[in-house]
Amino acid sequence: MESELSPPVATPFQVLLYYRYVRIENPEAFLKEHRQLCESLGLRGRIIVGDEGINGTVSGPTEATGKYIEAMHDDPRFAEMEFKIDDAEGHVFPKMSIKVRDEIVRLGLDEEFDIDPNEVTGERLSPAEFYRKMQEEEVVIIDGRNDYEAELGRFKNAICPQIDNFRDFPEWLRDHAKELRGKKILTYCTGGIRCEKLSGLIRKEGFDNVYQLDGGIVKYGKDPEVRGRDFEGLCYVFDERVGVEVNRTETRKVISHCRYCGTEEPRYGNCKWPECNEQIFVCPGCREEHGLFCSNECREGLAKREAGT
Ligand SMILES: [Zn+2]
Ligand SMILES: [Zn+2]
Repeated sequence: MESELSPPVATPFQVLLYYRYVRIENPEAFLKEHRQLCESLGLRGRIIVGDEGINGTVSGPTEATGKYIEAMHDDPRFAEMEFKIDDAEGHVFPKMSIKVRDEIVRLGLDEEFDIDPNEVTGERLSPAEFYRKMQEEEVVIIDGRNDYEAELGRFKNAICPQIDNFRDFPEWLRDHAKELRGKKILTYCTGGIRCEKLSGLIRKEGFDNVYQLDGGIVKYGKDPEVRGRDFEGLCYVFDERVGVEVNRTETRKVISHCRYCGTEEPRYGNCKWPECNEQIFVCPGCREEHGLFCSNECREGLAKREAGT
């Protein structure tokens, strides 16, 4: 039975996800000031700053995240920056880490192949537009994330290129040119930042109808119209939550399975052999029976070490 509806309760914490490709003249100086701001607000998370922009995800008390958003929007460079906001019960990061890097999202593109999304990028589609585009004929949906992210959840019918490095992506495009030529190519990633360059890269390789999901999976799940429709599984996030719900429609399902018994298992665990630490799906029953190990080798590895042999 449904319990009585109660008014929504404001959660004590929020998680913010945001990025902006914009020229930052002196990233080192910016970082110094920005670290002070984050520390004074008691935020935790990961922020990368570069001369091409900012990429961040932070958690903090709701009052502090509100102040952070305000402070960022007061800066003309970030006045238009969109924050994707999740409610949380507490911090989802152990500490604050803020760094300067050449690339604000690690794609491993050499400088000569790098993409400026302000110059070339795919057409941005809102969640509703993206959903409608997926229903059209002659559409290819490309998952712009890593394989372990796609394993936890992805759009129905999406292709996961399984490439370790974006540097290899042009070659992948050439190898698959036959299947891609003349199609509408849709790309998506977690929050939209990787697709800014990925869709630009696809256009640079000579494909014309290239689209990207604006705001990524996270925004797609929050959109009141699509409510995550046709996203299957959970969205991988780089914090203590690991996976977050996206699909709030009847098309919701679990796509990951226990590696031992094959039952549906939506939660990642890390193989307990420290040298391995691979992210694996093992259901609670099998964790009890086999332990949280990816293989016999890893299980025996740890047993031997603990026995001191
Ligand atoms: Zn199992
Ligand atoms: Zn292992």
